[in-house]
This record gives sequence, structure tokens and C-alpha cells, in this order.
Amino acid sequence: MNDNQPAVTVLKIDGMHCASCQAPIERALKEVPGVSTISVNLADREVYVDGTTGDAVLITAVAEAGYEAIINREGSFEEADKANRDHYRQLIRNTLLALLVGIPLMIFGFFESAIDSSWTPLRWFWLLTAVLTLGVLMLAGRHFFVGAWQAFKAHSATMDTLIALGTGMAWLYSTIVVGFPELVPEIARHVYFEAASIIIGLINLGQALEQKARSRTSQAIRRLLDLQEKMARVVRDGQEIDLPVQVVVAGDLLRVRPGEKIAVDGVVTEGETHIDESMLSGEPVPVRKTTGEEVSAGTLNKTGSILYCATRVGADTALARIIKMVRQAQNSKPPIGKLADVIAGVFVPAVMLIALAAALVWFNIGPEPQAVYALVTAVTVLIIACPCALGLATPMSVMVGVGKAAEAGVLIRNGEALQTASRLTTMVLDKTGTITAGRPEVVAVVAVGGQSESEVLRLAAGLEAGSEHPLARAVMDAAKNRELEIPKADNFKAVAGHGVRGKVNGHEVLLGNKKLVQGAGVTLDAGAAKIGQDMAEKAWTPMFLATDGQLSAILAVADPIKPDSVEAIRRLLSDGLKVVMLTGDNQRTANAVADQVGINEVRAEVLPDDKKNLVAELQHRGEQVGMVGDGINDAPALALANVGFAIGTGTDVAIESADVTLMRGSLHGVADAIAVSRATLRNIRQNLVGAFFYNAAGIPFAAGVLYPFIGVLLNPIIAGAAMAFSSVTVVTNANRLRLFEFGGSSS
Ligand code: ADP
Ligand code: MG
Repeated sequence: MNDNQPAVTVLKIDGMHCASCQAPIERALKEVPGVSTISVNLADREVYVDGTTGDAVLITAVAEAGYEAIINREGSFEEADKANRDHYRQLIRNTLLALLVGIPLMIFGFFESAIDSSWTPLRWFWLLTAVLTLGVLMLAGRHFFVGAWQAFKAHSATMDTLIALGTGMAWLYSTIVVGFPELVPEIARHVYFEAASIIIGLINLGQALEQKARSRTSQAIRRLLDLQEKMARVVRDGQEIDLPVQVVVAGDLLRVRPGEKIAVDGVVTEGETHIDESMLSGEPVPVRKTTGEEVSAGTLNKTGSILYCATRVGADTALARIIKMVRQAQNSKPPIGKLADVIAGVFVPAVMLIALAAALVWFNIGPEPQAVYALVTAVTVLIIACPCALGLATPMSVMVGVGKAAEAGVLIRNGEALQTASRLTTMVLDKTGTITAGRPEVVAVVAVGGQSESEVLRLAAGLEAGSEHPLARAVMDAAKNRELEIPKADNFKAVAGHGVRGKVNGHEVLLGNKKLVQGAGVTLDAGAAKIGQDMAEKAWTPMFLATDGQLSAILAVADPIKPDSVEAIRRLLSDGLKVVMLTGDNQRTANAVADQVGINEVRAEVLPDDKKNLVAELQHRGEQVGMVGDGINDAPALALANVGFAIGTGTDVAIESADVTLMRGSLHGVADAIAVSRATLRNIRQNLVGAFFYNAAGIPFAAGVLYPFIGVLLNPIIAGAAMAFSSVTVVTNANRLRLFEFGGSSS
């Protein structure tokens, strides 16, 4: 990363399990001066802090919120992976220790659990067990107690609080029974050492499995990061030297051989090659590159050896921007997750109150032994309720869904765009450059005023030299192909949505659609009108050329339909979306194109400023509107649409602007985005229902509501298992999304 850019600091935060622990950390970091944005990655328990600040302030801020942060200097996944593996091993060791103590005790408890009030060997044995169990809590359960204490100091309560309280109470009660049996009625002299140990063991096991699954959720971004080359071969003073990519600056000349990756964005200055850009664009066929053409960091050089000049390095490369965007999107939350966060935020105190209430009820109006029932229900309630599953339900699915989309060349800006995309009802497609290739070509020149074809083409090209419209490029190319000398235009003027006008070779010249020439008082005779119509029926765009107030030629431009547009539009229709085609082109041409791709609803001859109004009109009718455009003159409509899809051609993408950027110039990307967003939202809902079922719905049973009816009370160990596995279930279900397959032929 360059020195002059505000850096991203990566903080690894121990004990940040889920949304309920994330909120206080985020709040604390936001208050640090110089911090601009924060994004939290729950998969790796990392926080990315954007801005200009010192490490020490950040660590202090996190500490004040009750957590411990370590700086991951490189922000590298190798470090994150190593930390994750260490964490996993630690959790497994904890599990083994706790279960090795807990399970034999449980078996022994089946035969013998009475406590004598005199110091018999059996009572000595229980005393020893109390010490041993305390050891388990302090070693294998250390992180729960430390976390609970930190939360307590920061005046909050987390999942650790629940576990620490639950197991701590079980141990304390049992120890009192052993140490001072006379304080407890004889019938209530039960010990729960085995429950405390086994619960600690199971929750550690759950966290270990969850750790494994979490790492998998960030696989897509890892793949993108792996594309970044570490070394570059720089040509300096005629010598080729290998240098770390961080020291390459714009303007450096670099060499890349076959089989090597492009290190930074640049322009080819020497040689010719084929480059595999599939990692960025999803486009499987290698692209030929020669002098003057752009190459992108992360793409793979296949055949030739080339020299290229660095244009964008470090955080500016397309790859770096893509990574940054995917990361931020993965860590952002759709609205559906906000509710879960609110619930998770009040969950812990609520559970503690319920536990207390249950204990009081059992103690006062429950059957004998009241103390035991009060204890068991309180512990069970505390242990069964895990706010983490609820807090993980949304972010884990978003992580996988957004990553999955990125793999298919679909960049989704944030969680909100993901959720909205899943609910779209209408898709508006721009014709030029979206349905068609956007590479129009002049296919016919009909001179009608006595001038030669070359002459009219020269005039047309002279005029179009000043225009940036794709049609202008087509006319210029046609003139160049015929090796015509192109005259200069004066008083050039572009009429948006209509055409161009100006003075060429002393003539007043107009070029554009029928409205443009007729509006200027030029008459079209029946013959000319017929020629224009025939062209339009063939899906060509007719352009009328008028010289000094007389029609002099009709030019036809054809813009081929992208080969996969038909299939992609079929996918959108079968997803239940209404598809509308939008264009500034004339009605006939528009209809002909729409026919070929299977679209029924066409809005043609729409002026650039009116595209937005069409979106507004559809929204007014209650539609959720997606709009697909090339992102240049469609920007206002894209911005107004509920979800704007920008077609990025190759790597030259306006990544930051659209809700969804399609790196592949194919409409399949739109269908893919819809499919993945729907699948992700379905997954989130399953997770939320599952988490709720496991935890919240388990609370009344834990509190013993079934007891008066069927005499059943939930065992605290079962509650421990439910808590442990609720988070695992959620993360595992999110990972199922990785297996999701796109419907298209493309990916
Ligand atoms: P779109 O973006 O849907 O292609 P535009 O609003 O850019 O539509 O253009 C609408 C119509 O105006 C074109 O189909 C063409 O007939 C005419 N037109 C616009 N610009 C030019 C130009 N530079 N040269 C010739 N015709 C033009
Ligand atoms: Mg356009």
C-alpha cells in the first residue's frame, strides 16, 4: 500500500462472536478521531478500520469496550488463518479436558450421588471433584469467564455472561452441598459438577466446529486476494529486477512472461499475448492484447512475453478496488438482519431476568426439593439461550452469498442491494450496450440527393468527429475503412437523443433521427421514408443526413444482439420478472430488437432525461424496479431504480457507483444476481427461524412450563448441546450457499 493513502488497519478481536458483541466495539471505534469507516468481518473476527490513526488508540478504544484487539499488520489471510487454526486447536483441547472430567462423573452419578453429612470417603471424593471441576472451569472455560468479566466491566452482558453464570451457579451450588450439607435440606443435596463440565465441553466443541465453518464462508474473498501478485519484474536502466509489488510506481516498465500473473494495472508497450481475465470478468476465453491495450492486476498471462507500463498500483488497481468493495459488501448487513440485531441486543438481559423469574417461581411454589428445581431451571434457561446464533444468522449468509456472486463476476454493493434485488418485480433493460453489443457498425449508405456514397459519408464523418455517441464511432469507422479524408466541422452541436448538426465544407449538415431532420424543416418523401422503415424492420437504426435543408442520404447502423441476451432474458422472465426494454432509438428498430430477444414491453424514442421518469412511473405503479444500463448516460435512471445494475465492460468498471456491477458484459449477470440474492435471503430466513427455534423457543421448556403437564424438565446438559450446536447449524447452513449453482449456461 502506498504511504500517501490512508491505510486500512486490521484488528483481530478475540471474543467477538457475533452481532451482539460487535455493536459496542463498533461504537467505540467510530469515536476514535481520524476513523472514517469500519467494517466487521465475523468470519475471521476482524475489524477493518479505514482512516488515519495510530494503532495504540484503536487498541485502547477496543479495550474500553471490554475486548482485546491485536493488530494484523499485513491484513493477510495467512496470519488470519494461522490465528484461526490456533484458536480451533485451543477449543478442541478445552473440549477434551472438559469432557474427560465430565463424562466419567456423569456415569458415576447414575449409581451414586448421595452426599453424606459426615466426612466419609465418598464426601472426600466429591470435595476433590469440586476442585477438579473448578480447574475445568478455569482452564477450559477461561474465555467465557474472562469475557463475562470484561463485559461486566463495560456494563454489558454477552453470551459469555450466560455461560459463566450458568456453569458458575451449578458449580457453586454443588460445592455448597459438599462443603456445608447442613445448609441444604437433605432431599436437595444433589451435585451438578458433571453438568458444569459437560456444558463447558460441549460449548467449546460447538465453537470449534463453528470456527471451521466460519473460515469457509470467506473463501471467495481469499481467492480474490490470492490473485494479488507479491513480486513484479521491473525494468530499470535496461535491467530486469524482481521487486516487491508495493514499490512499483505508476510509470514503471514491467516485464511479464507466459504463465505469470500481471502485477499491477498497466498498458502494453511491447509484444503481444493472450491474457486470461476470467478471474475478474468471468469471461472464460483468453483475450488478445497488443501494444496500447490495458492489462489488469491479477489476470494471467498465457502465451506471449510482454512489456507493460504501470498505470495504477496499490489500492488503485481494479482488483484492489474490487476486493475492497466485496469485503465491505460481505460485512454489511441487509435490513432483515437489523431486527435480529435489535433482538440479540436485548436477548441476554432478558434471558437473565427469565432465569431469575423461573428460579423464584420454582423456589416458592414448586415441588420439593425446591432449591434443586430452582437451580436446574435457572441454569437451563441461561444455557439454552444463545444470542449468537441469532446474531450470526444474517452476516454469515451475506458473506457467502456476496462472495458467491463475486465469483460469477457480479459485484453486489451491500447487503441492502442484495435484499432489494431479491424482491424486484420489473427489470428495465437499456437496449444499446445492454441487450446489444454496443458496437454499432454502418451496414448501408443510401445516397438520395445526387451525391456519391463517399461524399455523404465524408460529410457525416466530419460531423460525428465531434460526438462521443456510439453511433458516431460507427460512422467514423466506416469512413476510415474506406480511407476517406475526413473534413473539419464548425459550429458543431449535439442534440441529445436526436443527433448532431454543424457546418462541414461550407454546407449546413444535419445527421440524426427522423425527428431531428423533420424538426429542421427537411421533407422526407415517400421513397426515403420507405427506405428508413425497411432498415428499421431489420433492427437497424436509420440515420438521416440532410445537407443545406435537403435530404442527402440515409445511413443504416446495425448493433448486433449479444449472443446470450436471448437466453438471459428468458431466465429473467421465468424468474417471474416483467421485462421492459428502453431505448432512445426509434420505435420500429426497437420493436425488431425486442422481437428477437422475446421482450413484449418496449419504450422507444425516450429522451435521455426521460429514462428516469419511466423508472419513476413503474415505481408509482408499485413495482420494485431494477434497471440495467451501461452506467454512462443512464446514470440518473440507475440511481433512481431500486437496484441499478451497471454493465462494466472488462475491467474498466465504475465499481463504486452502481448497486450491482456486472463485470462480464452479459445479461446473465443480472439473472445470476437475482438468483443469488433470492437464495441468500431464503438462507437468511432459514437461519433466523432455526436460531429462534433453538434458542428463544427453547426457553419456556427450559423454564419448566411442561413440568406441570407431563412432568418433564429439560436437562441442563441438553440445553448446553442446543446452545453449542445452534451456532454451528447456522454457519453450516450459510455454507450450503456455496454449493448454489447459477441457472445460466455461462457459469
Ligand atoms: P440510446 O442510448 O438508447 O441509444 P440516445 O438517446 O443516445 O439512445 O439516441 C437516440 C437516437 O438519437 C439514436 O437512436 C439516433 O437515432 C439519434 N442520435 C443520437 N446521437 C446521435 C449521433 N451522434 N449521430 C447520429 N444519431 C444520433
Ligand atoms: Mg445509451
